[in-house]
Amino acid sequence: MRFDVLTLFPEMFSAVDASMTGRAMENGIIELNVVNIRDYSNDKHNKTDDTPYGGGPGMVMMADPVFGALRGVGAENKRIVYMSPRGRIIDKALLTELAEEPSLVVLCGHYEGMDQRVLDAWDIEELSIGDYILTGGELPAMVLIDAVSRLLPGVLSSKESALEESIYSGLLEFPQYTRPREYEGREVPEILLSGDHRKIDLWRFEESLKLTARQRPDLFDRFVKEHCSLAKDEKKVMEKILGML
Ligand code: SAM
Repeated sequence: MRFDVLTLFPEMFSAVDASMTGRAMENGIIELNVVNIRDYSNDKHNKTDDTPYGGGPGMVMMADPVFGALRGVGAENKRIVYMSPRGRIIDKALLTELAEEPSLVVLCGHYEGMDQRVLDAWDIEELSIGDYILTGGELPAMVLIDAVSRLLPGVLSSKESALEESIYSGLLEFPQYTRPREYEGREVPEILLSGDHRKIDLWRFEESLKLTARQRPDLFDRFVKEHCSLAKDEKKVMEKILGML
């Protein structure tokens, strides 16, 4: 999948070279093309922002350099998203849909945002990473790229599955432990050392249910409604937890 990122701060995207997204690039699963919007400024001082019509604080990103950058990446034929606190909040359903796209153009705002005519003329979808304000769209764009990449075939190792993780599985993940067996007086739960994989699965399922009921009652209620087709043993664990609430 190809990501064309349009930004005034291209240097920030070196973070994508690290870790899992870096490996996905090395393996040719994702391609990242970071474009500096400033390169498309027709102003002799490379200006890309100006004061807002109607007054008010801050600066607004000018339409012309962004139009140039969009044309430069052939955005006419691609899905374009603008990272924006006004947008639809990114969730599992949207990410799954985006992961089906062959390419995505990701526009990053800065200052007070973007001249509205860019969004209107290019029919751009606004996407948010949550109800808070960041300085620019670069970190949200990296969040989007990371979250979409994890869903692409071959990005996670064969032992991992995005669908078994918190939220995607419908529950929060059970507690995880690694060596040593005892740390500052705290022991790893005995059952994890038992070698009985069926019992371990049921214990993990029970811990996931308890954690979700406590920390995300909204997810827990949805899980209870949607999972009437659980296997017999899992159903017993679920009934036990429901009885404890
Ligand atoms: N004045 C804008 C408003 O009130 O909606 C906020 C501008 S913000 C300081 C600058 C840029 O950061 C935005 O144009 C957007 O690209 C990005 N941004 C900030 N918060 C964001 C969020 N929660 N999700 C996605 N992008 C965000």
